[in-house]
Amino acid sequence: MKYISTRKQEETNIKTAILKGLADDGGLFMPEYIPQLDAEFFENLPNLSLQEIGFKVAKEFLGESISDENLKEIIDEVLNFEIPAVKISDHTYSLELFHGPTMAFKDVGARFMARMMAYFSDGKPMKVIAATSGDTGSAVASGFFNVQGIEVYILYPKGKVSPLQEKQLTTWGGNIKALEIDGTFDDCQALAKQILSDEELNQKFTLTSANSINIARLIPQSFYYFGAFAQLQKLGKQIVFSVPSGNFGNLTAGLFAKKMGLPIHRFIASTNANDVVPNYLDTGNYEAKPSKQTISNAMDVGNPSNFERMKSLFNDDVSEFKKEIASYSFSDEDTKETMIKVKNDFDYILDPHGAVAYLGLETFKKSFDSAQDDKDNEDFVGVLLETAHPAKFVEVVEEVLKVKIEIPEKLEAFNKKEKQSVEFPADFELVKNYLMDEN
Ligand SMILES: *Cc1c(COP(=O)(O)O)cnc(C)c1O
Repeated sequence: MKYISTRKQEETNIKTAILKGLADDGGLFMPEYIPQLDAEFFENLPNLSLQEIGFKVAKEFLGESISDENLKEIIDEVLNFEIPAVKISDHTYSLELFHGPTMAFKDVGARFMARMMAYFSDGKPMKVIAATSGDTGSAVASGFFNVQGIEVYILYPKGKVSPLQEKQLTTWGGNIKALEIDGTFDDCQALAKQILSDEELNQKFTLTSANSINIARLIPQSFYYFGAFAQLQKLGKQIVFSVPSGNFGNLTAGLFAKKMGLPIHRFIASTNANDVVPNYLDTGNYEAKPSKQTISNAMDVGNPSNFERMKSLFNDDVSEFKKEIASYSFSDEDTKETMIKVKNDFDYILDPHGAVAYLGLETFKKSFDSAQDDKDNEDFVGVLLETAHPAKFVEVVEEVLKVKIEIPEKLEAFNKKEKQSVEFPADFELVKNYLMDEN
């Protein structure tokens, strides 16, 4: 399988695509075609474990670049937690993606990417550079922790992440270093870019970025769509997935799953006030905007990086997009109301991101019902992707629901550890000197 940049100027193999992250022409790597799974796989799907599904799907994308034995070992390690589809009501299920080590769905992608990078690395010391405004950094740190041959540098803005988030970034030790930058998240991102493109640093190290553009984060995110299907197929209904979206990596992975043959009826791209994709589906014009701050802040993205991948899947044709995806934007007020309603009606606590996805399902259901009025009562099951444990957004959830959220032991453990960080002003030369002195 070849991997081709969305901007078509670069073609390479999976190893290089993973080690580089971004193509030289600025595009994102895509497989040259989406592989098809055979009928036998789908017939057998309800009997397969998540690890068995993951192995089969990953194999299609990785081919002979890795042995079955090595791949199996990696997949078993990556997916060593459950991803259950939990019933909220008769027609609505929550696919809980938050049972991994940092309790957010980004664990799945980060853990797989870390192990694939270690597997493909060629002996030169490898450094992963990650700028974070909070959550990505902890999933990346956790994913790479103790992975041999790789050092990770997390750049985060001093005083601008929550206390628990800071602990999740700074208490690892070992191969994870936290650089506390006296500046904003944008400063951290600018520094990361300068580091990644610096000639001297690139001569000394293999440098790579760990953000959501890497194809190795996308591939494993398709596993759980199959996993959800395996759990829900017995209901005998069409399945609609609502994906709370920011950079649209999670949704793009779902599109991969459907193209591989998984019979998903429809996707709902649910967003907060950052509405460039719903606007695009309405108007056919894509207009990036500065991001707006919301209570579902992991989705505060004004120019989603994976839009380029979706465009290439749909041949840049908005009518093709619309056949697969419905998209809606919701306010913080709607989000809070939904959190309260779902708690009261079904005794289920949604985090703000999951609540946005729930709203997407409700809205879709209304249009679906009216469109189906005089047809044969077709019905669907809605699955919302619950991307974070409510305790990750404890301040908002407690304020909205007026309940005390218990912090799971997994998160509480970070609070008990000692913060270790190296402080820098937002100054590239100083950060570079520090990195040059590293091994
Ligand atoms: C990153 C994130 C999202 C958005 O996922 P994308 O793949 O960027 O669309 C949604 N919810 C949570 C909790 C996240 O951390």
